[in-house]
Amino acid sequence: MEPSAAIVGGGVGGLAAAIALRAGGWRVDVRERATALPAGGTALALWPFALRALDTLGAGAAVRSLGRPQTGGAFLRPDGRRIAPIDIAGLERRTGDTVHVLSRPALLRVLRETLGPGAVRLGAPVEGAELPALEREYDVVIAADGINSRIRAALFGTGYRAVYSGTTGWRGTVAGDTGTVTETWGEGRRFGVTPQEGGRINWFAGAAAPEGARAAEGEVAVLRAWFGHWHAGVRDILDRLVEAEVLRHGLYHLAAPLPSYVLGRTALIGDAAHAMTPDLGRGACEALVDGVELAAALRAAPDVPAALRAYDARRRPYTRRMARIARVMSRMARMRHCTGARNAVLRAALAVGGPPG
Ligand SMILES: Cc1cc2nc3c(=O)[nH]c(=O)nc-3n(C[C@H](O)[C@H](O)[C@H](O)COP(=O)(O)OP(=O)(O)OC[C@H]3O[C@@H](n4cnc5c(N)ncnc54)[C@H](O)[C@@H]3O)c2cc1C
Repeated sequence: MEPSAAIVGGGVGGLAAAIALRAGGWRVDVRERATALPAGGTALALWPFALRALDTLGAGAAVRSLGRPQTGGAFLRPDGRRIAPIDIAGLERRTGDTVHVLSRPALLRVLRETLGPGAVRLGAPVEGAELPALEREYDVVIAADGINSRIRAALFGTGYRAVYSGTTGWRGTVAGDTGTVTETWGEGRRFGVTPQEGGRINWFAGAAAPEGARAAEGEVAVLRAWFGHWHAGVRDILDRLVEAEVLRHGLYHLAAPLPSYVLGRTALIGDAAHAMTPDLGRGACEALVDGVELAAALRAAPDVPAALRAYDARRRPYTRRMARIARVMSRMARMRHCTGARNAVLRAALAVGGPPG
């Protein structure tokens, strides 16, 4: 009989694992809490390493054709002067590819089409208490249930829950088209502009704020007060904001790194394993790679425990490091003092590390 996997969560990582396992002859049952594909969602930067993972799933071409390619980028000061470039030309030379920006709903649609019918049950949440039964019924359980993972809590306890990072994000889109990413860093605040597909420009802002607070005077008024004197690229977006279209939400990450991404016959992938703040723009990219690598290990190893050990050894140290760097970036962006020194560190880090291939 074919081997079987229960996948909890039909988001980015869960669908990637499902596609890769199904292609390898596994029976996959994906249980997704939501009753339909999301109508809205943030623009995701998909770096070349994630596009390669999508290629192995057979979804790379669709994502490249739907996504908006990034042609350039820079970190800027509030007056518009450059702190450091984002070396997209160098990235293209190294990888033969560039970042493609695609909204989360569009990416999920491509993944669902690639997976094909009959594998995803919508409106089917899984509780932590169901895990023992799933482990008995399936050869492997894959926890891909995102940042507030019930399976993580059941396996490792609430000490490893997602906690508020101290930064709140505002985001939305306006009509237009750009291939360039800019992140403008001021004292304790930042404002980003990125490409998105479909004739839209994606924008985001970040600042320290009390968890869950709302602005009595309206979010647009606050954003204009904070950023209204910044350079024209920021002001142009601010001028076009509509209160009802501005989204505000706290940014969360794991309170502590997990001691393992596997326990028993269960493996955690994506945000369930290593939820990080979006400062590196790569949580979804890592979720895709997790799904592909876990499936590859399950297909190659002699048995499930060996496969899960191989996956954990391959993915945990690396993603843990990325989560740590994201945390540092988040703190740096929130700095209110010594921003000259901070900008110098950012410039040096980009010169040495560059964008991820
Ligand atoms: C503002 C912002 C900007 C970002 N920008 C980027 C970016 O540019 N590039 C990038 O790579 N990443 C980015 N990310 C991160 C990225 O969105 C996440 O890391 C990524 O979606 C994680 O994928 P996942 O599959 O682990 O979880 P998700 O995609 O969140 O999927 C989890 C799924 O599990 C389902 N689920 C939850 N609980 C249950 C349950 N109990 N039972 C069944 N199903 C359940 C959910 O409904 C969901 O469908 C950003 C994040 C934010 C907040």
